Amino acid sequence: MIITTIKEMQAFADVTRAAGKTIGLVPTMGYLHDGHASLIKIARQQADVVVTSIYVNPTQFGPNEDFAAYPRDLEGDKKTAYAAGCDVLFVPDDREMYGKTCLTTVQVKKLTDGLCGKSRPGHFEGVTTVVGKLFNIIKPHVAVFGQKDAQQALVIKRMVQDLNFDIRIIIAPIVREPDGLAMSSRNKYLSPAERQDALVLYRALQKAQSSIRNGETDAAIVIQAMTGMIAAIESARIDYVQIVDAETLETVNRIQGSVLVALAVFIGRTRLIDNIILNN
Ligand code: AMP
Repeated sequence: MIITTIKEMQAFADVTRAAGKTIGLVPTMGYLHDGHASLIKIARQQADVVVTSIYVNPTQFGPNEDFAAYPRDLEGDKKTAYAAGCDVLFVPDDREMYGKTCLTTVQVKKLTDGLCGKSRPGHFEGVTTVVGKLFNIIKPHVAVFGQKDAQQALVIKRMVQDLNFDIRIIIAPIVREPDGLAMSSRNKYLSPAERQDALVLYRALQKAQSSIRNGETDAAIVIQAMTGMIAAIESARIDYVQIVDAETLETVNRIQGSVLVALAVFIGRTRLIDNIILNN
């Protein structure tokens, strides 16, 4: 079933809840792949009714980003979502989501200062605002997000904690292509040569993993090895390569406890992100 209006979605949520059933939500921007499907499958295990939202949210894109070009394929999305166990697709348009004007936003501080927040000003405010709206529209008991967007996952968890949303947040592991590239709707932008070059993100993360496992504790040395690998690829331009505390996202110099190794790299014109959590 597809629902396109907020009123209908809220009514559906009310009826579902009144029947004693739980609702699981997977928020997406569509152009669904196996990474999204894995989230839907988890929601399927955790809730009686699974809702997948498909909405390319304009407020989380910067003026020079790919909002207009972002790939869309509702017919393909229907097949992928239903095959993974989705019951309802919530597919609103911009007017439905934001009306003529929306004067209210949700902002999580501090956690959004670094990493993608630094290179994409306003991005996380757009994300938390739209996810907050989706929570009020779909009224889920549980919502599933991907570790692929590691910073987003922490920011959402924090928003839920700080604003007392009565929703359990599950973070699902990164789903990769057989050669290691993290699945992403944006991989569609890559030419065959760039698709090959894009493997450097995963290779750099593997390099970090092996050097930390071999006892390296100096973050600068690990980052240097990673940036060296990436710099060797002509189509690659580094946005950031960072090692941060996996909970606070603060930069670490010495690798101790649980750290997030995260990177954002342009391959040609396509900005890709990937990450790994390592424990020392
Ligand atoms: P998006 O449509 O890119 O906004 O992603 C929607 C949700 O799917 C987010 O919670 C992402 O973190 C998650 N996601 C995207 N790619 C992957 C992946 N390769 N593995 C796991 N989750 C993913």
